[in-house]
Amino acid sequence: MAPVRSALERRAPFADVAVVGLPRALMYYRLGAKWRAFFEALGREVRVSAPSDRAVFERGQALSVDECCLASKLYLGHVDALADEADAVFVPSFAIPGPLRSYCTKFQALPDLVTSAFSLAERPVRVLSALLSEGGAERDERGSYAALAQSMGASRRDGERAWRAACAAQRERDASLARAQAELVAGARRLPAAERPLLILLSAHPYVAHDPFVAGPVVDALRANGATVLFADEFDHARGLRRSRDFSPSLPWIVNRELVGAILELHERVDGVVLVSAFPCGPDSMTDDAIALCVKGRPLLTLTVDAQSGTAGVETRVESFVDILSYQRKGGYLHE
Ligand code: SF4
Repeated sequence: MAPVRSALERRAPFADVAVVGLPRALMYYRLGAKWRAFFEALGREVRVSAPSDRAVFERGQALSVDECCLASKLYLGHVDALADEADAVFVPSFAIPGPLRSYCTKFQALPDLVTSAFSLAERPVRVLSALLSEGGAERDERGSYAALAQSMGASRRDGERAWRAACAAQRERDASLARAQAELVAGARRLPAAERPLLILLSAHPYVAHDPFVAGPVVDALRANGATVLFADEFDHARGLRRSRDFSPSLPWIVNRELVGAILELHERVDGVVLVSAFPCGPDSMTDDAIALCVKGRPLLTLTVDAQSGTAGVETRVESFVDILSYQRKGGYLHE
């Protein structure tokens, strides 16, 4: 006979969770500041898994089906790393808050994916799930966090306070990244042409661009070849989203829209653009070719990273690309 759950357990099934695990993967790279502030404001301790490496990937791969993309395989590896570290691992699902504001379907299925992957695992994981309405109307987004706070046994007032703290932390993080990036561009532009480093815009989902196991070797190779790297995902999101209307009136994925908008805003101020995707990515496979048509007059390098490819190929391609940019700057062969 199934155990009888008390009224509190039904209303607040996660009230007993003292340590919340945050997998350092997928949207953690975009919303980690908000989630950390939210749980801390509710009085919880937060543990974040260590940055990705091959061991994390191999563990994630063993838990995944082959069709999963590299980024979601890594996610499972990070969840596994938290199994003994936290009372529950936060695995949100993302609602679709509007027609041009949807997320990759992987984000909607994430709690089910994790629950099923760990159902037979040696170390079971308790999943703290929530349906978040990120990027939608403020009322909906706030409501989704209020429900999450309630599931952890917080009063309405404490939930509201945690939501405000979370939004402030995320706003501050986003603004400081956008500011630092704008200063980097302005500083480079102030230098005499002969001393100016090559400015390269790297466009990728945040969990690809900033994960040391995914785009890390690309970023390292660009820097080793003397380039200054700007990240499209650190550009002002709202501005990128507005500008993306010039690219497509119907592209559904909000993160791809922000990236495209950032490329349109920045590509004339950089020497080249690098697109990086995690294999196999449905949204990127639909947008990358179209982006190539928009980036007129700037060399573009497209890289797809999968865990089997070593870094030697990446280094060679990046080196050749930087050579092309240097040649271009001296009046080379690519013209609008
Ligand atoms: S957008 Fe692409 S890389 Fe990201 S989770 Fe979806 S398929 Fe994977």
